[in-house]
Amino acid sequence: MISREDISAILSRYDENNLKIATVCSHSALQIFHGARMESFTTIGIATARSRPYYESFPLARPDIFIEVGSYDEILRRDVQEKLRCENAIIIPHGSFVEYIGAENILEHFLVPMFGNRLTLLWEGDRRRQREWLEKAGIPTPRIYSSPSEVDRRVIVKFHGAKGGSRYFTASDRFDLGSKLQKLGYTEGYVIEEYIVGVRYYPHFFLSLLEKPNVSGVDYGRLELLGIDRRLEVIDEVHRGWPDVIEEYMDFTVTGNQPVVLREKLLVDLLEIAARLASTSRKLFYPGLIGPFCIETIYNPKRGFTVFEVSARIVAGTNLYIYGSPYSAFYYDEPMSTGRRMAREIREAIRKNRLESILY
Ligand code: AMP
Repeated sequence: MISREDISAILSRYDENNLKIATVCSHSALQIFHGARMESFTTIGIATARSRPYYESFPLARPDIFIEVGSYDEILRRDVQEKLRCENAIIIPHGSFVEYIGAENILEHFLVPMFGNRLTLLWEGDRRRQREWLEKAGIPTPRIYSSPSEVDRRVIVKFHGAKGGSRYFTASDRFDLGSKLQKLGYTEGYVIEEYIVGVRYYPHFFLSLLEKPNVSGVDYGRLELLGIDRRLEVIDEVHRGWPDVIEEYMDFTVTGNQPVVLREKLLVDLLEIAARLASTSRKLFYPGLIGPFCIETIYNPKRGFTVFEVSARIVAGTNLYIYGSPYSAFYYDEPMSTGRRMAREIREAIRKNRLESILY
C-alpha cells in the first residue's frame, strides 16, 4: 500500500506556491473547481473527449487545465500520474473518482497527493468494516440478517457493488423475501437489512484538523455542519401511480438532491453522532476523518436517528450549496461550499506549514 511517507516524499518536491487542485470532471467537480477558484487556486480537470466541452462551457467553474483521458482507468497510467505530479496537483477524491478508479487501485497504485486520509477508503468501501466503525462508535444502525430465515420484519435487500440504490428491493417478511429472492435467482452477493421507517436526512460535515475542537466529543479538530440534503430517489414518486402501485417506481436509485433543514432541536443528535464517528475514526484509522464526510440517516420519532451509511468524502448533495447553506452561514459570513471549504483548508495548511497533515 502507498504509505504516508511515499506521499510526503512527493510533496517535498512540490512547489507550494504553485499547487493546483485537480479532480475528475464528474460528481461534484464543478463545485470543487468553483470553490478552488474562489481561493485563488489553479484547477485541473481530468476529462474524456465527450465531457470536456461541457465542462469548458461554465465560465466560473471550468478547470484552467484539462488532462484528457480515453477512459478514467487511464488515470492510473504512469504518464498521467507523472503529469499530475509535474503540475503540483492535489487530488480531491469524490464519489465518481473513487468509483472509476477503484479504492484498491487508489491505495496501491495512485501516487499523487490526495486531500484527506486515504485510509478512509478501506473503511467506507467495505460494508462490514463500515458497520464495525459505526458499532464501535455506539451509533444506531439497521439490523443486518445473516440469512433470510432469520428475518422477523420488513427488510431492504442491497446488492454488493450496487451503486446509489439501484436494484435494491424490500420484502415485508421472510416468506415474501424468500419468494422474491427465488424469483430473481439470487443466492448470494447481497445484504439483508432491517427497513427503517422514517424521514431521511443526509447531513454534510467538515472536520478541520487545523482548527481547535469546537464540539464536545471530538478531541482533534473543528467539526462543521455545512449543509443537509435529501436524496431524490425514484421511489419518492410512487404516489404518482396511485391508486395503483406501479412496479417501476419501486426503485431506490438516487437521481438528484433536495435541500432540507432539520427541526432545530434534532441538530444536537446529529452533531453528537458525527462527533462519535470522528473520534472513533481516529482510533481505527489514524489520523481519522479529515475534511468532508456525510452520514446517511433516517429519523424515526420513536427510535431517533439510525445511520445506514457513511461517505467519508465530498457527497453530491453538497452541490446544492455553492453559495453556502442555512448552516454554513453560522460559521462563515461569506459564501462557503464544501468545495471552497476544502480549498480554504489547503490554503490554511500552506500558511501554517501543515500541508502534510491534511494530504494522503
Ligand atoms: P444506500 O445505497 O445505502 O445509500 O441506500 C440507497 C437508498 O435506499 C437510501 O437513500 C434510502 O432511501 C434507502 N435505504 C437504504 N437503507 C435503508 C434502510 N435500512 N431502511 C430504509 N431505507 C433504506
